[in-house]
Amino acid sequence: MKYKKLSIYESLELHPPEISKCSRLYSLEPIGIGTPDCESLTSYIIRLSQAHCVTVNKLLHPNILKDFDRKDLSDYSQIIYRLLRSPHNSKSFNGLGLTSTKLSQQLEALTLRNDLSFLTMLSWSEITTYHQLFRDHQAWCPVCYEEWQTNKKPLYIPLLWFLDPVKICLHHYQYLLEECPHCRQTLPIIGKQMQLGYCSHCGNWLGSSSSIQTYHQTIYKDNIKWQEYVTISMGELIAAAPHLSSLPTRDRTAQVLNTYLNANNITKGEIATFTRFIGVRSENILIYLYNKRVPRIDKLLQITSAFQTSPLKFFTEDINTLIGKLKVSSQLFVKGKEQHDKPKPTKLDKIKIRQVLTQALLEEVPPSITEVAKRLKCSRHSIKYYCPELYQALKLHRRTERLKNFNQYSLEIRNFLEAALIVNPPPSMQSLTKSLPIKSAKLYKLFPELCYQISKRHKEYRNACTLEKRNQVIHEMNEAISKLHNQGKEPTLAQVRKLLTKPGYTREQFFQDALFKTRQELGYEN
Ligand SMILES: [Zn+2]
Ligand SMILES: [Zn+2]
Repeated sequence: MKYKKLSIYESLELHPPEISKCSRLYSLEPIGIGTPDCESLTSYIIRLSQAHCVTVNKLLHPNILKDFDRKDLSDYSQIIYRLLRSPHNSKSFNGLGLTSTKLSQQLEALTLRNDLSFLTMLSWSEITTYHQLFRDHQAWCPVCYEEWQTNKKPLYIPLLWFLDPVKICLHHYQYLLEECPHCRQTLPIIGKQMQLGYCSHCGNWLGSSSSIQTYHQTIYKDNIKWQEYVTISMGELIAAAPHLSSLPTRDRTAQVLNTYLNANNITKGEIATFTRFIGVRSENILIYLYNKRVPRIDKLLQITSAFQTSPLKFFTEDINTLIGKLKVSSQLFVKGKEQHDKPKPTKLDKIKIRQVLTQALLEEVPPSITEVAKRLKCSRHSIKYYCPELYQALKLHRRTERLKNFNQYSLEIRNFLEAALIVNPPPSMQSLTKSLPIKSAKLYKLFPELCYQISKRHKEYRNACTLEKRNQVIHEMNEAISKLHNQGKEPTLAQVRKLLTKPGYTREQFFQDALFKTRQELGYEN
């Protein structure tokens, strides 16, 4: 008998397939990881809450984590929840410490992602301090918002916009705005009902197709080169975070500074000259040299810019290669040293001091003793020693003139504040103080009545805005209800929500109360 040769087919897997673990929250992909425009953790939380159609408070509510098996994180969720109640304090969410560590870990576990720590500055926690690194309110580029909206891209808040030293957007050469152009209020970092791209106070759109520049931003005008350096440097740090093979250690600044001093034969006694070149006080440099403290972000940027390098290279490049490059910029140091070594006058001419002081007394705006000392290239002490009467006379004259000027100045401030009382929309005291070279506490002390009136007027205006907005929403809600009612459909919250232009308001108590009342009037059961 002949048999046909039997062919063997591929075997079948009869075991049930393994289904990967489902995440508790949507595994939403963060925007721009590995680029300078990387999203911030707070922005991610807001987008995640929007994706789940819940408020931020509900998303991060400790109850969500009730059955979460990592006890230490569950305990910490209480702290996060408390922080959410004070939105201006929640800057630590994007920060360098325990709050951002625990929060990103918690969210990573809930979304089954492993990249959420890159939405914070955690990778750079060892190189600088928390102080002055973050703003306690939002800043944004209106042109970026407008561009994303027009191109139908998702709205988000880049981590860069939360960093206090960053004042500009490099895409549009636009100063970041720090207060809403409509209601002049600062926006909290995160809030329970926040909509990205919209003001959380007045609900207006924050984008704009043309650049906006406010008064107090013009002060940065001369500083644009410095701002470019700061923004590029901070952007580089954010972009590099996911690609770091090892995180920089706390003693890196001390290592670089010590190696640089040794390589250039600068002794500890010459530190003062060295620090003058860098622009950081010598006490601070000594603290960094002995690794007692890491530099604050502004000092750190000053040091790296003086070395004509970027913070990224300063902290990640091989130390010997880096020092080799830093030598190139040491020309500047020599220049600084030469300036410092200018010969000081040794013999002082009493007659010359008398002449200069007499002349100073006749000037319309009398100079200070320090100014006179500069003109004479001698110390204040020498002036006092050689011509005590003229020294006292100049001090007294200057004090009298300054008092006169102060009276004139306070009159100008009074006029400014009085004018603010008739400006519409009524400005806040916070925005007015920003445009004056005087602190808020001093302003309240000098003109208490005017300040309280301005504050009261602004508060009344804000309340009126809120009321008007609510009335508009209720009017729209009533129209939606009558439309549904006439069509024979029951006006439920979900149905009414579909017909509203701003459905976010349906979460608010006033809306739900009004809906309850109208439904009752129409005979529906609540
Ligand atoms: Zn921009
Ligand atoms: Zn606003």
